[in-house]
Amino acid sequence: MSDVSLEAARRRTFAIVSHPDAGKTTLTEKLLLFGGAIQMAGSVKGRKAARHATSDWMALEKERGISVTSSVMQFPYEGRIVNLLDTPGHADFGEDTYRVLTAVDSALMVIDVAKGVEERTIKLMEVCRLRDTPIMTFINKLDREGKPPIDLLDEVESVLGIQCAPVTWPIGMGQRLKGVVHLVTGEVHLYEPGRNFTRQDSTIFPSLDDPGVAERLGDAMLSELRDELELVQGASHPFDPAAYLAGKQTPVFFGSAVNNFGVQLLLDFFVEHAPPPKPRATTTREVGPYESHLSGFVFKIQANMDPQHRDRVAFMRICSGKFTAGMKAMQNRTGKEVKLANALTFMASDREIVETAYPGDVIGIHNHGTISIGDSFSEGEALSFTGIPNFAPELFRRARLRDPLKLKQLQKGLAQLSEEGATQFFRPLMSNDLILGAVGTLQFDVVAYRLKDEYGVDATFEQVQVATARWIRCDDAKKLEEFREKNALNLSLDAAGQLVYLAPTRVNLQLAMERAPAVQFLATREHA
Ligand code: GDP
Repeated sequence: MSDVSLEAARRRTFAIVSHPDAGKTTLTEKLLLFGGAIQMAGSVKGRKAARHATSDWMALEKERGISVTSSVMQFPYEGRIVNLLDTPGHADFGEDTYRVLTAVDSALMVIDVAKGVEERTIKLMEVCRLRDTPIMTFINKLDREGKPPIDLLDEVESVLGIQCAPVTWPIGMGQRLKGVVHLVTGEVHLYEPGRNFTRQDSTIFPSLDDPGVAERLGDAMLSELRDELELVQGASHPFDPAAYLAGKQTPVFFGSAVNNFGVQLLLDFFVEHAPPPKPRATTTREVGPYESHLSGFVFKIQANMDPQHRDRVAFMRICSGKFTAGMKAMQNRTGKEVKLANALTFMASDREIVETAYPGDVIGIHNHGTISIGDSFSEGEALSFTGIPNFAPELFRRARLRDPLKLKQLQKGLAQLSEEGATQFFRPLMSNDLILGAVGTLQFDVVAYRLKDEYGVDATFEQVQVATARWIRCDDAKKLEEFREKNALNLSLDAAGQLVYLAPTRVNLQLAMERAPAVQFLATREHA
């Protein structure tokens, strides 16, 4: 096997999805702990704080207890290389979260045992469903009282429409939490509070029949547990690798992230069963991870990570081949060859310069605004990966400048910030307005803050009569021109120069569509 095949086969690239407060950050810390990436839990929060210090606008995130940025953490575990892509977790999350999910091969869903399936989890699951992303589930906070485990499985099955296969099963809960049983291996892992920074190998028994288990649990609890397990195994599904890989079944684990309990069982199972990189679709053909030529796509842009350098980093997911520092690849949007120098990798310990990277890995490419979300890079052959959508924004505001002389900076700032993908920027054909669209209201505050902080522009955002946006496409040039003339008042160009219809009301949109049957009104635009 070539080194590309070997390296690709051992990559496990995933994201954790959860409703805020379910324990995503805590679980991330524990996974990094097992990955040897950090010595002590707490370091992720420490890293967060350190990063906050490097960039002022992040103070806004901190103030609001949100994380607008997301990062990539790589660590080795049991011969595998795990890439964990963080998803932004703020209440007002937007498209950038969705797009991170296009760059992973599987996901891990964290659920709070007391709260069950929450609204954000439902949304995120819908996105995973679009690509049949395989999902594992961790039910967290077992050290607290919560819903009965059987009810939780029912809830996941009925609300999220996915079959559950419990892999571990809790012994008690809250004050009475005694451990978990591994339903596949039969092992019993007992819970010892206060050992949350270490691996808990000393409390593992090979099976329920081990005399040590009866000794620790007592006969009454043990027989209650046996009855329960019988019930569970009758009522639930056994783990089926094919169903999991098809996104039809989710293996379920129970534990307590903060107590580091049940986490290692999850990680061991994850690296064994979670999928390595799969082939991905482009406009011309499917690209397999084991192909020797490099290819990848950009799913996220982050500007000004380092305010001293005003740099921007494009996050590229590698889909095939091998990346080596300084190599050249063709950028599909421009058709030009670009040298990929100064790429960053994201070892959990720190950002560092990479020499090589493989399918499943994410590299960060420094640039000065020449790379956009959705761009593909490839060696030898032009390729354009599909499926990285731009969603029509749901909220619109007009930018208003305090100092009219700063118009140029405002335009530049809005255009650059919209390249990061959280907001979209529109210029009406018939006016000098600058209109910003977003999926959540918080984005407007973030943009106003960053305009001031990074571009020295004092702008506010005011209401504007726009209900929704549709990208316009029409193969018939004459009909398109006609449409343009008749609807000029409602037409704008987006940051990429594409024609967009900004409808003042839904009714107006309906009418416009009826009057122009030859024109397509698209609710998403694939980055092209
Ligand atoms: P996130 O918003 O999903 O990243 O959640 P965090 O990891 O920040 O956790 C939210 C809160 O739940 C924090 O106060 C954690 O300390 C707490 N927490 C996380 N895991 C557990 C757990 O297993 N048990 C209990 N009791 N609390 C937990």
